[in-house]
Amino acid sequence: SKRSRLDRFISANTGVSKKNVRTLLAKGLVKVDGVIARDIDQIIDEFSHVTFEDKVLQANKASYVMLYKPVGVVSATIDDKHQTVIDLLDRTDKQSLHIVGRLDLNTSGLLLLTNDGRWSKKLMSPEHKVGKLYRVSLQNPIDDSYIAAFANGMYFEYEDITTLPAKLEIVDEYTALVTLMEGRYHQIKRMFGRFRNPVVGLHRLSVGAITLDEKLLPGESRELTVDEVLNA
Ligand code: URA
Repeated sequence: SKRSRLDRFISANTGVSKKNVRTLLAKGLVKVDGVIARDIDQIIDEFSHVTFEDKVLQANKASYVMLYKPVGVVSATIDDKHQTVIDLLDRTDKQSLHIVGRLDLNTSGLLLLTNDGRWSKKLMSPEHKVGKLYRVSLQNPIDDSYIAAFANGMYFEYEDITTLPAKLEIVDEYTALVTLMEGRYHQIKRMFGRFRNPVVGLHRLSVGAITLDEKLLPGESRELTVDEVLNA
């Protein structure tokens, strides 16, 4: 992603040749995150704060937001028919944010947004085994046979994949808690579709260690805490 060697970055942003960048570094004229940088091969990323002779060359703030997505709002940055999740945010950097794991139009609950591509990639990659927890309301009664079917995985012909083991807990006859390690297109609806049991309500409660803040109302958002960002 947006990672660069320090000499390359300074050269590209000042016009100074890489050879001369060595001298600038040796003179202590470059600071990364407030600390004098002397190594040409120090790796910096898009959120490193970089100054040269006290002029700011780069100062991007990493942003991490949780939104209580309401039903009827689309998980996209632009849409001509519906309000988007970006429309719900009141922050100057909202156009720089991307969605970490979309929710369907009629799904509510925890939606994460960030401008940190490495963080979102890690959260979304199946290898990192980040569980997404959903509360599912069904039209017809459910029973124990669902548990094994979700744990065994289901073959989806269209994508030619078998879903990863998913955990299903029965809350009551019409309500289940489902944990997915991935996010295939309409996955939960399609999995219950195998039982000819329509999903009538779908709500995401958590993504990894990040849980939807109970103080948020639908449409409201807040910045993630440092702990939430690091332990997600
Ligand atoms: N599964 C679905 O079917 N829809 C969602 O929004 C999330 C998971």
